[in-house]
Amino acid sequence: MTQEIGGFAALGLHPNILAALTAVGYEEPSPIQSQAIPVILAGHDMIGQAQTGTGKTAAFALPLLSKIDTAKREPQVLILAPTRELALQVATAFETYSKQMPGLNVVAVYGGAPMGPQLKAIRQGAQVIVATPGRLVDHLRRDEKVLSTIQHLVLDEADEMLKLGFMDDLEVIFEAMPESRQSVLFSATLPHSIRAIAEKHLREPQHIKIAAKTQTVSRIEQAHLMIHADQKTNAVLRLLEVEDFDALIAFVRTKQATLDLASALEAKGYKAAALNGDIAQNQRERVIESLKDGRLDIVVATDVAARGIDVPRITHVFNVDMPYDPESYVHRIGRTGRAGRDGRALLLVTPRERRMLQVIERVTGQKVGEVKLPNAQQVLDARIKKLTNSLAPLVADAEASHGDLLDRLTTDIGCSPRALAAALLKKATNGQALDLATVEREQPLVPGAGGAPRERRERDGERSDRGGERGEFRERRAPVPLTEGRVRCRTALGTRDGIAAKNLLGAILNEGGLAREAIGRIQIRETFSLVELPEDGLDRLLGKLKDTRVAGKALKLRRYRED
Ligand code: AMP
Repeated sequence: MTQEIGGFAALGLHPNILAALTAVGYEEPSPIQSQAIPVILAGHDMIGQAQTGTGKTAAFALPLLSKIDTAKREPQVLILAPTRELALQVATAFETYSKQMPGLNVVAVYGGAPMGPQLKAIRQGAQVIVATPGRLVDHLRRDEKVLSTIQHLVLDEADEMLKLGFMDDLEVIFEAMPESRQSVLFSATLPHSIRAIAEKHLREPQHIKIAAKTQTVSRIEQAHLMIHADQKTNAVLRLLEVEDFDALIAFVRTKQATLDLASALEAKGYKAAALNGDIAQNQRERVIESLKDGRLDIVVATDVAARGIDVPRITHVFNVDMPYDPESYVHRIGRTGRAGRDGRALLLVTPRERRMLQVIERVTGQKVGEVKLPNAQQVLDARIKKLTNSLAPLVADAEASHGDLLDRLTTDIGCSPRALAAALLKKATNGQALDLATVEREQPLVPGAGGAPRERRERDGERSDRGGERGEFRERRAPVPLTEGRVRCRTALGTRDGIAAKNLLGAILNEGGLAREAIGRIQIRETFSLVELPEDGLDRLLGKLKDTRVAGKALKLRRYRED
């Protein structure tokens, strides 16, 4: 098992953590992880210069989890994050990486939610506290001993914390922890104020920075698209409709993502395959050969698996998941523009990854312009153009070879040549009507998909109108309009239960006896999922699904009340 994740195994992490990494499908450490993990494991203080998207959370979570003594039921690790959103994200990451560590508990402590349950979780022996500074200070006011057993501290996004005015709170928190603790600081930038904190509170910190060499990437036209993570597959499908590509390579981060995206593409009729570290070498070679000779047009790969691919017909690279660093970006997009040809590279950027985009632009010395998601009209135009291009070359000689047949069929059927031509077009398009209404129905536009909503950076402790419960908070981040006649249903199963859209879809199709078209959008989140189902006959359907289990867990689908 450890062989599969050779890169991580060599770093000296605890075997239970390696097992969890295999389960999430990470293939190898990102650059910041390779450098930071040994330093943190060795117990040094550290300053890491890295932004979101580099894999920095795992860079501190993995070694710190390896150091925790689960037999001791007291707080040992404290992570400070500037926002509630980041605190929740980090807490979820710790939960994921500690799946195989029985007895390990994580508590997220942030403003806008009641203090009682947070304090209770701390007192019950959560070993990891992930907190926003303001709320943590509130807890310290109630109980000054809360942090007295902390052995490891991480300041995540330290520059953001200072921008939000948490300096004084940080001082209070530092004072409440044992001096013997290990301190790690992550920051995208290192302004004077951050250096001053490091000087005062860190002991001989080691500096880690991912060196960025300038790289040239001429001949490759680059663009980016702002998108929410849960809309990436939809976006890829829509982009593929309008992009004029020969062969394409799509980069994602995990093995599971290669499989999910490749099967979504196959389902839409693309000749696509996954390429990841689990696939045997000879099979990988076959995939690449198929891409070369046109039996495949799209390969969905992780960075590891795509190493060294040299296929001249690759015209496009889609960076569906952000690369860890600019070098890896340059390396990825270098898969196109081979043999002196032009290539096109597209980068999907989630709101939190904006900063990484700027770093890429700086390092490559090129602006990566923004493109919008194609609208229904553009998709329709592209489909018609494709059809035109496929028919136009036949027009010249088809009349000579098939003209007599046309005469005969119009006579036999008793229809006009126009009616027959229309029937043949219907066949050629698999019955798909090429009009705007059809395209809009197939691809409902999702608000915010094209232009990403502003990232929320709320001051910790402010009253929230979005509720404190985790699921609710996230649900409201992406309001999606419903198609008429459909209602949304909710299950408490999500990605943390190992659920993907295809599992949910399969269960509802099989056990509910519905046609695929009856099921609308499926949104999978960490702690819950939403699925659009026909309103008509809903109670009967939910009755049929009453005992359905997905990934070994009860589905318990319920109608979801929209506000
Ligand atoms: P972060 O920079 O910590 O915000 O991480 C960005 C994303 O990269 C998260 O979605 C992680 O799950 C993912 N990630 C982190 N490390 C790895 C890895 N070694 N392999 C694949 N994905 C990773």
